[in-house]
Amino acid sequence: MLYSTYNLKETFVGRFPYNSDLLKEINKFCIENNITTGQISIIGAVKKLSVGFYLQNEKRYISLDKIAKFADKPMEIVSCSGNISIKDNKPFAHVHIIGSDFDGATFGGHLTEGAVVFAAEFIIHSFEGKLLRRGLDEQTRLPLWEK
Ligand code: ZN
Repeated sequence: MLYSTYNLKETFVGRFPYNSDLLKEINKFCIENNITTGQISIIGAVKKLSVGFYLQNEKRYISLDKIAKFADKPMEIVSCSGNISIKDNKPFAHVHIIGSDFDGATFGGHLTEGAVVFAAEFIIHSFEGKLLRRGLDEQTRLPLWEK
């Protein structure tokens, strides 16, 4: 098992701009505020969602954006949570999201660029402690946390 302990440094509470790209805004905010290790949660709504799924056997992400039932449709952000660490020497957010449509049907996955904000209220906890860096994990071929 691999873990470290951190202390809470600061909590940011706010909302991301209308029509912005959700993932780009998260990463921009983390870089601008030097959030190198942290936790994020968001609720609100998107004009459209954009998520990926990692094919474990093929070791690559595919986009789920073309699933007709959910493509290019407004959705509630039922749950959106993630973590912030360092990748390629800058803050990087790894975020998963679940949206629900007008039927209440849910759809989700690994948040990718392309999700358009309608309203997005966030809480970000910034931690202080050892720098948490991502590096290529040989087994999964994912950029996971290093020791
Ligand atoms: Zn993911």
